[in-house]
Amino acid sequence: MSGKNGKDFENFVYVDNSGIHGKGIFTSANIPKGYKIMDIKGEVINGKECERREDEEDNVYIFWNGDNCYIDTVKTKKIKYINHNCDFNCDVVENDKDELMLIAYRDIKAGEELTIDYGYEDIYDGCGCNDCTNLDN
Ligand SMILES: [Zn+2]
Repeated sequence: MSGKNGKDFENFVYVDNSGIHGKGIFTSANIPKGYKIMDIKGEVINGKECERREDEEDNVYIFWNGDNCYIDTVKTKKIKYINHNCDFNCDVVENDKDELMLIAYRDIKAGEELTIDYGYEDIYDGCGCNDCTNLDN
């Protein structure tokens, strides 16, 4: 389904201003559904440290990797900028203990912003994605 030949689309991923929020990541190539886009790597921390960083450092760049395992991507150049969109086009899947993978949830066209469902309750209040702002009166 993904990770074919170990190739991915990371070289085509770039950071630019987002219509959703601040900066975002975009693709300069078409990406077919199910293909691996890039690894999600960073510092591996536990749940307690994750909470501390979120509370004390306002760190919003932490991904959950199951089993009390979290990946802090604050020092990365690209993946940390991925935005939430209720109409997301990417999915995060488990790779191994220290690593997640970003894959295409559907066919993605060159120039599109890459987005995921952050998946926690608070994000849906005051969400700035196109889906939600279009419903807003
Ligand atoms: Zn939304």
